This record gives sequence, C-alpha cells and structure tokens, in this order.
Amino acid sequence: MGIPLLDLKKQYFDLKPEMDAAIAEVMENAAFIGGPKVKALEEAIAAYVGTKHAVACGNGTDALFLIMAALGIGKGDEVITTPFTFFATIEAIVHVGATPVFVDIEPGTYNMDVSQVEAAITARTKAILPVHIFGQCVDMDPLLEVAERHDLVVVEDACQAIGATYKGKRAGSLARAAAFSFFPSKNLGCAGDGGIVTTDDEELAAKARKLAQHGTTKKYFHDTFGVNSRLDALQAAILLVKLPHLDEWNAQRRAAAAIYDELLAGVEGLDLPVVRPYGEAVYHLYVVKARDAALAERVMSALKDAGIGTALYYPLALHEQDALAALPGFVRPSLPVAESCDAATFALPCYPGITEEQQREVVRVVKEALA
Ligand SMILES: *Cc1c(COP(=O)(O)O)cnc(C)c1O
Repeated sequence: MGIPLLDLKKQYFDLKPEMDAAIAEVMENAAFIGGPKVKALEEAIAAYVGTKHAVACGNGTDALFLIMAALGIGKGDEVITTPFTFFATIEAIVHVGATPVFVDIEPGTYNMDVSQVEAAITARTKAILPVHIFGQCVDMDPLLEVAERHDLVVVEDACQAIGATYKGKRAGSLARAAAFSFFPSKNLGCAGDGGIVTTDDEELAAKARKLAQHGTTKKYFHDTFGVNSRLDALQAAILLVKLPHLDEWNAQRRAAAAIYDELLAGVEGLDLPVVRPYGEAVYHLYVVKARDAALAERVMSALKDAGIGTALYYPLALHEQDALAALPGFVRPSLPVAESCDAATFALPCYPGITEEQQREVVRVVKEALA
C-alpha cells in the first residue's frame, strides 16, 4: 500500500456528506464569485486568527503581493526575509519592484535568525517578511522590537502556519498583516487555489481588497490599477466545512511529530526538528536534516523503495536560485546555515490520520538506511 507524504483524500471522505451538501448549495445558488460564503469565510478566519479583518483572494502568493502593494512597498525598497522558504515569498517582493535581502536561518527550526536582522537594515529597508516555516512561528518579539526601533513594517508569511501560536497568540495576528494559503496540501486546504490576508489595520484591508478587484470599490470605476485575485464560493464553502476541524487535525500532526521525536531520538546522522517553547507548532511538514546530501539521498531512496513518500524541503536556498542571479543589482550573500540545508533536509510523512504503525514502518526504513 505504501505510506504517502500526505493524505488529501481522507479529509474529504471523513467529511463527505457535509462537503457534498456545501458544494451543492453553491451550485444551486449560482453565486460563484464573492457572495455570502466568501464573506462568511472571511469572518470565520478573522475570528480564528484573532484579527479585525480578513480579505480573501486567489492564493497565498497573491495575499503576500496584495499586502506589499497595499503598504506601498515598491521600487528602490528593500524587504528583509529568509532564504529558506517557498519561492512565492520573494516573488511578492520582486513583483512590487522591491529587492529581497536575505538573512540566514537558525539550525533546527529553519526559521529566520532574528538576531541577524538588524545588521541587514539599510536606509532603503521598508519591511521585514518572516516566514513561519513548516508551521512554527518565528521568534516575533525581538523581531518586532528591532522593527519598531527602525520604523519598519513586519508582515508574516503564515502560509504554512495556520493555527500555530506564539506566546498564546495565533500566527497571522502577530504583525501588521499576514498572508495565508489554502493550497490543497496546506494544513487548511481547499480544492484548488485560495488565499487570505489577515490584519487589524482597516485601511490596509480596504486597500488590499480594492487591489484584488482591479483597483475598484465601485463597479466599472477604477481609482488605481489592481489585479484579479478572488476566492470563489466553492472554495469558501469547502473551507467553512473544514475549518472547525483544523485544531483537531493540527493536534494530530503534533501527536505524530511527538512519535517521530521519540522513535528517532539520538539517531546518528540525522537532526530532528527543534521546537521552541514560546508556542505551539502545527507541523505543516516534519523535516529532518541528514548529515550531508549523500546521506539524505540514501535515506530518501530507501523510503521511496519502501513506498513511503518523502521530498526535499528545500533542495536549493532562494539566494542561490538562477532567478535571483538575474535580478539587477543582486549580490549573492553567503548564508552558511541555509546552504548547509541544500539537498539535506527532507520531510517524513506527518499528517492527520497517519497511524503509529505506519510511523514505526517509516522509522524502521530510516534507521535501516542510516545503519
Ligand atoms: C504555499 C506557500 C506560499 C504560496 O501560497 P500559494 O497559495 O501556493 O500561492 C507562500 N509562502 C509559503 C511559505 C508557502 O508555503
């Protein structure tokens, strides 16, 4: 049978009657774009995350772009971020005309090393874009403190971290604004693309909403140039069915992670993920780091031979990508911790519904490959 890296079918089959009814309702009402389902989802996500506003949009990449654009970040500006993330994080920066500036990451959590941010600030720095990678929050308090001293805005890329907490507050409510993705594999995923912006800032929310609708607040009258980035009602309906189950699913991810932590403790050649005591992680991915790329390759091919899903996260840090080399004026920094992860960090299956027996099989194969 094998063990997949994630199981998307299970959530549907577990909730099939409710899911099918919600989809049928949208089809019968034929309100496909915007409408009551999207509004209800925005209210539900704002309440869940703990912000005053939420603005649904086409995907997580757009959510980041809409925030950057609404903040007026653009040509000549610099945004400090992490090289260890999905490419979309920096696409949002580049597409508003700004330049990404990378700081290195911490070993173990793979999050931005907050202690390196201040040294990266220049006269052109406008914002800091931390990413709560793999579902664990960045250490936000010292980051917000630096930002405040230098009058910089902080935006969270919370795409992998819905439900994660930092000192009791949820990811997405920790800075000026945050972006979430509802891509199917995310902890709260829809049946296609979807995303949302969360913020307490009413003006920012209104600007993001306008930009997502061709720069209009009144149909066919445009006071600025925007884009078309909408969430459709079918996706909102599906997400509304799933949202009440998110905390339980995240708890199951944490329980599965605890089992790996225990079964793999002390294993030679493999570093396990580190979780800081300041919050609860939601394990979007359970990522381990092999001593080197060759060992990662050996373990991963043993997993694949055994029918067990695995993948590199991420095979190449962003500051080393060809797209960056082609960016005018970009000087590639040396970021040793991020570079040490290239082709060495990979995910083990960790999703709601994975059984302890399946995890024991994963661990057996990993240990055998390491021996
Ligand atoms: C998934 C993801 C995105 C982009 O979300 P999409 O919905 O795929 O556009 C951005 N940042 C991070 C960290 C992500 O994991």
